[in-house]
Amino acid sequence: MNLKGSAEVLLTSFPHQIMRSLSWLLMTACLGSCRSTTTPETAVLDAGVSTSPWADVDPLVFTSSGPTYHVIDGYDPIWLTYIQEGVERARTYWGSYGPTHVWVVGQQDGRLISEDAKQQFIDKYCTWRTASSERTVTECRPYARRRFIEVMERGEPEAYLSDVRDTEQRMAELVFINVHEWYYEEDAIPDPILRGIHEYTHVFQQSVGPMPTWMAEGGAVFIEAWLPKIDGRRDPKDVMSWIMERAQRMRHSGFTIADMEEIETAPEEVAQYYLELAYDSGAWATVFMIHQSPTQSVSSLKNEFYPLVKELGWEAALAQYLNIESKDQFYEDFEAFMDLPIQEQLRTLEAIRP
Ligand SMILES: [Zn+2]
Repeated sequence: MNLKGSAEVLLTSFPHQIMRSLSWLLMTACLGSCRSTTTPETAVLDAGVSTSPWADVDPLVFTSSGPTYHVIDGYDPIWLTYIQEGVERARTYWGSYGPTHVWVVGQQDGRLISEDAKQQFIDKYCTWRTASSERTVTECRPYARRRFIEVMERGEPEAYLSDVRDTEQRMAELVFINVHEWYYEEDAIPDPILRGIHEYTHVFQQSVGPMPTWMAEGGAVFIEAWLPKIDGRRDPKDVMSWIMERAQRMRHSGFTIADMEEIETAPEEVAQYYLELAYDSGAWATVFMIHQSPTQSVSSLKNEFYPLVKELGWEAALAQYLNIESKDQFYEDFEAFMDLPIQEQLRTLEAIRP
């Protein structure tokens, strides 16, 4: 399917394991490919309407039934099991929104996926994807092959929410490709579970309305650290320390989360710090926000802050939630927080409560 004229926006996921294994090249490659997938799909939205790909979009809606899961035949079902565990954990936390479809493909060494299985997956996807769209299955097939099968065959791992807007009802599709590449035996919690938590958090956020890139990605990264903490599965201190370390590495540039309100329209000199600003600094900005709120409670994010975003828009919501004048005040306070020693920063993480 040629996406020109279509309307999809991607919110992606960058597992920390990639960086931990010091595969800078791989990281850059992912960042590069994620960016290049994002740009053509979002850029078309700009044409004559608005500079923001998020403007004038109906939010995803409450759905009584959960996501529908699809996995390519021949991929070890354990990966779907992990992803599903993460998605369902996040859905229990955030509530049920969509309609959401989860598409999982992957090819592990020595376990080639048959041509029949690829075709079946493509046909299933395209039948669903075009059911209430003007696009045809014939148009969709080469697009689905490029987007799922070719990425799978190249061995590249990917995870993202793709926001489907050219269908009768706006829908969310969560795409997971080769997530086994992100699995490390020594991890306290298998990474594909965290990918599921992260991507479903974006589904919930899309039920609220537009929010800046740092808030969307930072919120999802923070919840990846938080839910395993309240489940007693992992102490968030290590991962958040490491995230802070990476966030600090680009501060000499002078760019801050204030420059990362919209990756789709960010200039290249800012976009090169997508990972550090949106994901890393964004995760800590979320901690800081909760810590500055009257209750210091993470559940107030879900029960107070996000409903305020829906009602007032994110800027007014931020000001009201924190009882401050404007977002500029928040940005200023957060940069002062970023200057603190790590031990003090970690104390804010310890101070916030469920
Ligand atoms: Zn994300």
